[in-house]
Amino acid sequence: MPGGKCFFNPRWLEEKEYKDWIQRDCDKYKAFCKCCKARVDISVMGESALVSHAKGKKHTNNLKASAPVVPIANFFSVTSSQSSQSASVTATPGPAMPTSSRTLSSFCTKTAVLKSEVMWTMNAVNSHYSFKSCENNSKLFQAMFPDSQVAKGYQCGEGKTRYLSTFGLAPYFHSLLKKRVKEESGYVLLFDETLNKHIKMKQLDIFVRCWNGQQVQTEYYASKFLGHAYATTLIDSLEPAMVELGYRKYSLKTP
Ligand SMILES: [Zn+2]
Repeated sequence: MPGGKCFFNPRWLEEKEYKDWIQRDCDKYKAFCKCCKARVDISVMGESALVSHAKGKKHTNNLKASAPVVPIANFFSVTSSQSSQSASVTATPGPAMPTSSRTLSSFCTKTAVLKSEVMWTMNAVNSHYSFKSCENNSKLFQAMFPDSQVAKGYQCGEGKTRYLSTFGLAPYFHSLLKKRVKEESGYVLLFDETLNKHIKMKQLDIFVRCWNGQQVQTEYYASKFLGHAYATTLIDSLEPAMVELGYRKYSLKTP
């Protein structure tokens, strides 16, 4: 540093502690605070001068006052046409943030609709209902609960129930199981293969048995489809599952 003086560091413009209020000053030994409309001398203390300025009462008050204020009324829809419009928006899997309408009520309704669809899908899977049997649920629920905004928004028919269970819930529960098994000191891997007449291939189902609290629990893990199932084919099919669960790959084939 020439003459032992500290000067403005452009890195501060990016840093979250400073970026909301700091600006370059024409004097390189000073920084400018947008909130306080004041110059901060950094020539001696350097960054510590900024830290101490940021802690000051005057600065914290000015910073609060300069935060953009969004009127709470912006979050509420007041007209009935708007609320019925927002309720009829179909919720889709993924982040439940409303895109077209940013009202709080539409956000709540969409989340509640998505929740109801997820709950129904879990019930359908748990009770072994066919996806086809979910086809007219939206009409049924709307007729059963005519005063419900959630029922109005419910749009989970055959396709969406299948989609939610296959691409939303299954990977989620699979990851929970994987995480739980990995945390255990040991587990048992079970497998069973049999001919799947429908696709005319052998189906190898893999199960995991491990402790869940005070109970021993066996859970479905994955399925593989095989042609001729030699011992090596079985190992090749089981290995990825075992590696996923934290088994060291090389130790399997070691005699
Ligand atoms: Zn300030």
